[in-house]
Amino acid sequence: MTVLRFDNVSKRYSSGHEALSEVSFDVAPGEMLFVTGHSGAGKSTLLKLIHLSERPSRGAVLFGDKNLLKVRGRRVALHRREVGVVYQDHRLLADRSVADNVGLPLLLRGLRRGDIAKRVRAVLDRVSLGARANALPGQLSAGEQQRVGIARAIVGEPRLLVADEPTGNLDPTLSAEILALFASLPERGTSVLVASHDLALVKRMRKRVLVLNQGRLVDDISPEDLAE
Ligand code: ADP
Ligand code: ADP
Repeated sequence: MTVLRFDNVSKRYSSGHEALSEVSFDVAPGEMLFVTGHSGAGKSTLLKLIHLSERPSRGAVLFGDKNLLKVRGRRVALHRREVGVVYQDHRLLADRSVADNVGLPLLLRGLRRGDIAKRVRAVLDRVSLGARANALPGQLSAGEQQRVGIARAIVGEPRLLVADEPTGNLDPTLSAEILALFASLPERGTSVLVASHDLALVKRMRKRVLVLNQGRLVDDISPEDLAE
């Protein structure tokens, strides 16, 4: 069983630039892994292929038993419900409370307000923000704002969570805290894929690491290799 499989995936943008070249890897249910590489290595492109902001030029991306090439039209939105996304700049609504921001994906899905409130409370507790439910994002620290972004991405219980440079705006201590929070999420069965250019920070987390260099997957480091 795999949650995600890249099978010889290449992506060439219309500019002619090949951002990914023949990339293959599998992600198991409940697995946590990082993808790292310098700026321009293809990390964002890889994530975009997963949430269907971009399409591969060659090869296939499989999500469970679905070939994402065949997911088109209205089914794109349904697919995106199964993939939680965390952005570097978290993209919170400034004029809505923390609880409203986190509950928004469930509201859009038509869940009842009582059910939404219950799930929002539970998920805010998981990211240690239970006490800030009624605050506005602007009243929170940068690290807290990123935790709200994570809560919003997991509230719909996605099978896979992807994050693009989620610590890009944080200092080293906060970055390590946020990555540790990501690393705790697979305990609930969600697989987690985090892109970060900070190889040293990533290695300290002792999780699997995919290394991209100029669009090629040049290493797939297992946690055991990072143990010593
Ligand atoms: P990373 O996230 O590792 O910084 P990206 O996936 O953003 O890498 O980019 C990989 C390469 O593809 C870079 O050279 C970038 O300039 C190029 N690229 C990214 N998006 C586009 C695009 N929409 N059109 C053309 N080239 C792009
Ligand atoms: P990141 O490193 O986080 O991907 P970038 O600044 O490289 O951010 O890219 C920002 C946006 O511009 C992305 O949506 C990316 O796809 C697009 N982009 C990046 N490089 C190019 C490029 N050479 N031509 C067109 N679009 C690009």
